[in-house]
Amino acid sequence: MTQPSDVEIAAATPMRPIEDVAERAGIPARALYKYGDHKAKVDVRHVAASQRRPGSKLVLVTATSPTPAGEGKTTTSVGLTDALNQLGENAIVCLREPSLGPVFGMKGGAAGGGYAQLNPMADINLHFTGDFAAIAAAHNLLAAMLDNHLHHGNELGIDQRRILLKRVLDVNDRALRDIVIGLGGVINGIPRESGFDIVVASEIMAIFCLATSLEDLRERIGRIVVARTRDNKPVTAADLKADGAMTALLKDALSPNLVQTLEGNPAFVHGGPFANIAHGCNSVMATNAGLAHADWVVTEAGFGADLGAEKFVDLKCRMTGLRPDVVVIVATIRSMKYHGGVATADLTTENLQALDDGLLNLYRHLENIQNVFGLPVVVGINRFPSDTDAEIDLLRKRMADRGVSVQLATHFADGGEGALDLARAVRLAVAESPSPDLQFTYGDEVSLEEKLHAVATRVYRAGSVDIPAAVRRQIAALEAEGYGDLPVCVAKTQMSFSTDPALRGAPTGHTLEVREVRLAAGAGFVVFVCGTIMTMPGLPKTPGAERISVDAEGQVTGLF
Ligand code: ADP
Ligand code: MG
Repeated sequence: MTQPSDVEIAAATPMRPIEDVAERAGIPARALYKYGDHKAKVDVRHVAASQRRPGSKLVLVTATSPTPAGEGKTTTSVGLTDALNQLGENAIVCLREPSLGPVFGMKGGAAGGGYAQLNPMADINLHFTGDFAAIAAAHNLLAAMLDNHLHHGNELGIDQRRILLKRVLDVNDRALRDIVIGLGGVINGIPRESGFDIVVASEIMAIFCLATSLEDLRERIGRIVVARTRDNKPVTAADLKADGAMTALLKDALSPNLVQTLEGNPAFVHGGPFANIAHGCNSVMATNAGLAHADWVVTEAGFGADLGAEKFVDLKCRMTGLRPDVVVIVATIRSMKYHGGVATADLTTENLQALDDGLLNLYRHLENIQNVFGLPVVVGINRFPSDTDAEIDLLRKRMADRGVSVQLATHFADGGEGALDLARAVRLAVAESPSPDLQFTYGDEVSLEEKLHAVATRVYRAGSVDIPAAVRRQIAALEAEGYGDLPVCVAKTQMSFSTDPALRGAPTGHTLEVREVRLAAGAGFVVFVCGTIMTMPGLPKTPGAERISVDAEGQVTGLF
């Protein structure tokens, strides 16, 4: 008995008018910019002026290290929100906006799955309210102003070999990774090597998701370092006088988008930075809007807890004062077996030994949340039909031995009802540990290298960090320029605690090999690139786009 596809379920579920969804959350109609009947933006000025609801709780949903088997953070975030509302609580879910790259590529949608989804699902996955287009426009305006500056005499003395900014596009297009621009003679500008990244990799995306107001957005944009001069001095977006126009392009986009879950509960879907070269969670505007309008805000951090939750804590929480009250780690029996060494094709066969071995990955993430960050945690098992009773019993026993609350959740098949136990456990965890004392992995005052070392050894359990001499010199230069107080953002594979994606489970003693350091001065962090990180993905041999179409009524088909 297979259930209908995600897009079929979503299309068959009636939606409430968006004003009604807003009204239930106490958002006044005058603060809404409507995009048709079922999507609205909530005016950024309304959000900025709103106070957090007293006693509102922030639930961070994260997961074990991602595997090809899929974990289900988004689906669980939606299911948990619906379940909390079924229990009579007032809950809002805050999520990232899907990028067209994965939608047309491989991964699929980012609006949940099965009976735990957001609606209008097709719209959310395809363009939505145009935020990514606005971010691309702002980014590409900056790039155009930079090349224009070179063309008109280069008054700022930009070194053409030290230009850091590329252009962006929200389509996976490997042919644009490395290009030469400005060809065709004098009137077409200065020829130079450049390239495109996907929009979610733009620093403006990260900035957009950390900004707390239009003013903060403009100041952060102004700080973006786009290039360096011949004597290696930073040149910023403010130096190019681009910050004002870029912010003007983003002024509507910064208002968070309101939609609904399949059960008609409010959902903010806003912003969507990568979780490797950036911090990987929805906008601060959306999280703040949620906390002003609900007693419970459920939000997701990208990838596994070593990347997503660490950045949520060390970047988003550090910069904003936000504090999660409880963390939900999503795990699946299948992915635990994968971490225990099982091949992808064999994950649906019962294998208690592999499950037991793979649980080391979950234990490691649990220890990090509890002991490094000091937060209460609940494990949510996202149930798949292939999970056997013996496997579930073993998992329950192992969690009981560790005194960890573990709940089986079937929201994918049953909607919010399937996550009621998880919701009760979340409520209980918060009641038992009110106001947990969040700990950061490192303090602001230690050096960039010490910060990196703290993340590597405390969160990834690496034995050492290997920094090439050239990178070390760049780090020293950044510190000399006054960027040493910034927190660090490590870009590495999400598949492993180490930098080797093939190293499953819970490796220890590995070496974190740093390849590159990049300054994200506007976002407010220093990125350490460890391993190959693709900032412009390619499409697979059979892209998802081949299946997607639309009928005469405007009904989208083939979206998962
Ligand atoms: P994440 O947020 O961790 O990347 P998602 O919630 O987006 O994961 O889920 C990834 C994919 O797996 C989605 O296509 C979703 O529909 C599917 N999925 C999630 N949970 C289940 C489940 N219990 N059974 C079957 N498919 C699921
Ligand atoms: Mg997700």
